[in-house]
Amino acid sequence: MLKFGQKIAIGGGITAAIIVAVVVMASTNIFSHNSGINTTNQNNASTPSTAQNNIVSSTSSSSSRVQIVAAENFWGSLISQLGGTHVQVLSIVTDPNADPHEYESNTADAQSIATANYVIVNGAGYDDWAIKLIGASNNPSQKVLNVANLLDKKAGDNPHFWYDPSYVNQTVAQMYSDLVSIDPANTAYYKQQYVDLNDSLGQYNNRINEIKQKFAGTQVASTESIFVYLANATGLDLVSPPEFMEAVAEGNDPPAQSVVEFQHQIQNGTVNLLVYNAQTVTPLTQNIKAMAAQKGIPIVAVTETIQPSDISFQDWMNAELISLQNGLNAKTLGQ
Ligand SMILES: [Zn+2]
Repeated sequence: MLKFGQKIAIGGGITAAIIVAVVVMASTNIFSHNSGINTTNQNNASTPSTAQNNIVSSTSSSSSRVQIVAAENFWGSLISQLGGTHVQVLSIVTDPNADPHEYESNTADAQSIATANYVIVNGAGYDDWAIKLIGASNNPSQKVLNVANLLDKKAGDNPHFWYDPSYVNQTVAQMYSDLVSIDPANTAYYKQQYVDLNDSLGQYNNRINEIKQKFAGTQVASTESIFVYLANATGLDLVSPPEFMEAVAEGNDPPAQSVVEFQHQIQNGTVNLLVYNAQTVTPLTQNIKAMAAQKGIPIVAVTETIQPSDISFQDWMNAELISLQNGLNAKTLGQ
């Protein structure tokens, strides 16, 4: 993954070698080597993680940092960057090899959430397990940020809010004001962190604008609804059947008509690039990917959670956007 990121980070000067690398890498499971990394709290009901132990021990200290649990690592990365040295963040859903839509919580998650000062959930049906644990833990002094509620969204709406740059900005602003209200003594510190984070997020926002300027209106497809918000932000024309993308997100079988339509779009040249969600894989999405590869359509892999999970939210987004940009360039250059 690092090699892959470095290669595509060369960016602007597109060479045939890079194009080949992008397409080849994207059409294989580039995350498979991450197997076993950062599966913290996924399968460890009987052995609480180090992070878990840290939370338990530091809440007993009067000088403890703000204890924060993020249901998913994309929100965890952002709150961690905001809170800096004054917070301790545990992200629960981090496993690159699991579908976050299907996550099942365990007793370690319940304990982490019960003892946290601040819990961040995505909402809109994405992490109902976390909302249940918050309800069960009955911790009246705990602050909860439900991103869906903040954005006035509900179950049934597209839950991939972290793929929308304006939703990310709204969420980060709320995180900032929540931190200040939980820990007012460090307001000046959080304010500076907020300024720095916004600067850093500006880089991925710039790349979104670059793609928009060059490729707005280009017809692309995606195997899952994860790409809808980013397609809007980049001005790309996402033509794949919504019924197909939503069914894959929800773990349902796509309607037969939507499968036929999607396959037809791949075959007849409607689609210039395929965005492939590597974390919500089904036989049907693999079939679409194989058809796209056969037709020489660039395939760009994206993921639900941060990959690799030790980089920041914006570095992850930026790497995906570079990959998207390179795929679009490859198509334009008639590879
Ligand atoms: Zn999804």
